[in-house]
Amino acid sequence: MPTTIFEHMSARAREAGAINLGQGFPEGPGPRAMLEVAADALLTRSSQYPPMAGLPELRSAVADHYARHQGLNLTPAEVIVTSGATEAIAASLLALVQPGDEVILLAPLYDAYLPLVERAGGVAKIVTLTPPEWRIDRAALEAVVSPRTRFALMNNPVNPTGAVMRGDELATIAAFCVAHDLIAICDEVWEHLTYDGGTHRPLMAMPGMRDRTVKIGSAGKIFAVTGWKVGWMCAAPPIATMLARAHQFLTFTTPPNLQWAVAQGLDFPDTWFTDQRAACQASRDRLARGLRAAGYIVLDSGATWFLSIDLTASGFAMDDVAFCEQIIEEAGVAAIPISAFYPVPSINHLVRLCFCKSDATLDEAIARLAGFRARMVAADDQAR
Ligand code: GLN
Repeated sequence: MPTTIFEHMSARAREAGAINLGQGFPEGPGPRAMLEVAADALLTRSSQYPPMAGLPELRSAVADHYARHQGLNLTPAEVIVTSGATEAIAASLLALVQPGDEVILLAPLYDAYLPLVERAGGVAKIVTLTPPEWRIDRAALEAVVSPRTRFALMNNPVNPTGAVMRGDELATIAAFCVAHDLIAICDEVWEHLTYDGGTHRPLMAMPGMRDRTVKIGSAGKIFAVTGWKVGWMCAAPPIATMLARAHQFLTFTTPPNLQWAVAQGLDFPDTWFTDQRAACQASRDRLARGLRAAGYIVLDSGATWFLSIDLTASGFAMDDVAFCEQIIEEAGVAAIPISAFYPVPSINHLVRLCFCKSDATLDEAIARLAGFRARMVAADDQAR
């Protein structure tokens, strides 16, 4: 299997001492109230195996959280706690995919999807979306489906584009899944990080999807504690049973003190989530504004921790990989080339930058990238 681009760029950033706007992770320690619960649970509660499918308190907290925030009617039995969303994706595929089953993927796609589909014995059928709208239409889905197609695996909101699927797109996917009797595996780790008043709608709530959707979530993203690796997968009982079987042979359980803390966090008042969203949106705007002032063309991002710059439109005659290598060395900033999200070379003029950082970090990165662009433009002028 390939080395993930996130590990590659973070290792390069460490070597070069660069500001890391590549792999997505925030700088802060995480919510104090959750850290205290986690620390206290280490000292006062069991450190032995919790129940395989997760602490009952956390499974209930996930179900209650989605009832409150997304109007879903999950029972705790329909929630399986995992060691991060990546484990949930792997467990879902290992549980459900039979050798030769076709799995529809939407590109750009999160880099773990394809190797995991293939290791599970699946055959990827890729629908390529086009910038700047990245819209999903029925004809493109129909063009790849066959009698062997059994799943559609997708991310909503979308990493790396920051797109949030609209109601009509979700309806299209739902009608398509129902028509072809597909199970949707929907990675919704960015569900709370939507901006400009946009709200996330779970695919599971669309007509016909309640019993054919695996909904995946991540405490690391919601609470800005990416190293904790606590996630979950939710599905109707027949599917949930299969998911739990796969999970038992992957990690079996997830650290109990972190589960206690996440259960607490999911119960935070609504204002905590709106404040978090507002803070991320302000960081997005700060980075976008600074880069635009420096002459970069920034694509709109309505969600996630990421925005993208368009190299061609910004006046760079190099591809995304070359740009990322050059800015690590010459600007001291690490980023992610968006071509890494495509299984076959297609888009290579977009670069992803992570904005969930302190103002000081963002300002320093902006200054470095501004200097880099100015030097490139000056060198170009001299060459002419
Ligand atoms: N989801 C993170 C990102 O897109 C990466 C997570 C990881 O490296 N496993 O940056």
